[in-house]
Amino acid sequence: MSTIEVAGAQVDTRHWINGQRVASSETFTNTSPIDGTFLGEISRGGQAEADAAVAAAKAAFPAWAALGPKGRGEILHRIADLVEANLETLAQLETMDNGSLLRSHRRGVMPRVAMNIRFFADWAINELHHEVFETRGHSNNISWDPSGVAALITPWNAPLMLATWKIGPALAAGDTVVLKPAEWTPLSASYFADLTKQAGLPDGVFNVIQGYGREIGAALVANPDLARISFTGSVPTAKVIARAAADNLTPVSFELGGKSPCIVLEDADLDLAATLAVEQYDNAGQVCLSGTRILVHENIADAFAERFREKASQIKQGDPRDESTDIGPQIHQVHFDRVKGFVDRANAEGQNIVMGGEPNEELGGLYFKPTLVKNPTPGSEIVTSEVFGPVLCMQTFTSDEEAIAMANGTEFGLAAILVSGNRERADRVAKQLVAGTIWVNCFFVRDLKAPFGGSKKSGIGREGGTWSFDFYADVKNTVVSPTGWKE
Ligand code: NAD
Repeated sequence: MSTIEVAGAQVDTRHWINGQRVASSETFTNTSPIDGTFLGEISRGGQAEADAAVAAAKAAFPAWAALGPKGRGEILHRIADLVEANLETLAQLETMDNGSLLRSHRRGVMPRVAMNIRFFADWAINELHHEVFETRGHSNNISWDPSGVAALITPWNAPLMLATWKIGPALAAGDTVVLKPAEWTPLSASYFADLTKQAGLPDGVFNVIQGYGREIGAALVANPDLARISFTGSVPTAKVIARAAADNLTPVSFELGGKSPCIVLEDADLDLAATLAVEQYDNAGQVCLSGTRILVHENIADAFAERFREKASQIKQGDPRDESTDIGPQIHQVHFDRVKGFVDRANAEGQNIVMGGEPNEELGGLYFKPTLVKNPTPGSEIVTSEVFGPVLCMQTFTSDEEAIAMANGTEFGLAAILVSGNRERADRVAKQLVAGTIWVNCFFVRDLKAPFGGSKKSGIGREGGTWSFDFYADVKNTVVSPTGWKE
């Protein structure tokens, strides 16, 4: 069966290559993390499918590039219209496939998917210009030209949202695309491919290939015909991709993991601080940006911990389709076991697990309780490694300098949350934090115009606004002499 019905939607389980559905002889099984429901058998591609998709994208490139930002923008807006028209279906589908909250998919994520596409389509039309400047009478004319085929490799924690954060600027820049979604969440990308066809996107401009990272993913990133590789995922996979990209000197953009701090200074509004800290359990902790290390000033630690406990005890874990649910399951048995492994090892080391620390037996399946580890041993695994589950650590500090040193003391640098009642102090501390995004007295406020990315091991490059086009486009300077003209 090449089409399955999920949450009322018909979803094709095959690859999408050159505007056609292409099956592989082998498949892999896709189940819902909500309750283990079998969703379907998905085409498991390899070298041949990766090569075919890149070849299709390469052939489609010249015409797509020649269309220009306005022509491309019209089609991209039609895709966004179709995302909006199918918003409920996409929301239900994504929830079944990745177990994130249906209410967030409806109200936040899927509207954002449409916005990702519109925003970058418009940015290419209106914002990609640079003032012409002169060098000894010669004019410098800077342009953002299409670069070729972009391979986009995405994770499972926010599948279509993270994919369109790349698809939008890549297509708007005039590149053609081969998308490899995560094998645990193949469905929304496949459904999206049908929408691109309905919107009139020419065949071959957008391709989706399904399968395992180590198989079709590895074949894709090794292809010498790629102009760009944009990857969101884990640090170990990024290292493998970087090695493959090095052989062809393919430029890479990496959005990777984190172990971000959530710093609560002595003068913080405690209620706000506790609210922000508890939000770090969102999406069952499967958020790259999560501030999983709560660093709190010693003098307010007890009062803060009490508020945190009160708020955390109100988190309702359950079926993500239920409007009243706050957090759902882990994505997959393999990931659940990984998260549990971190907590079990912390337990065995004698770390102080004061909340959760175990699967939610009442719910069964892949539901792991929100967990808090207090005062973990500095340098221990639980406080240095990315768990990517509902596991937070709480530590204390006695001075701003100590907080800064602790905050910066991991290999990551994706984000930091800072809670303070004093603007000057917050500004001084924020300046010394090493991370791509610092949120002061807030969390997750993210404008597509702003740069986004990680410092240190959390990534290479920045995306958002013109930063996205600096990556996907070939930035060119045409220097024109004042002499030599005949007319
Ligand atoms: P992952 O690295 O295991 O997989 C990500 C993608 O890479 C998947 O599509 C996978 O199939 C593919 N892949 C795996 N091996 C490959 C290979 N050899 N060649 C090519 N592709 C390959 O990551 P994950 O478990 O899916 O996602 C979780 C990670 O992603 C966490 O570390 C998280 O922090 C990170 N993440 C980062 C951001 C960000 O914006 N910085 C956002 C979301 C998730």
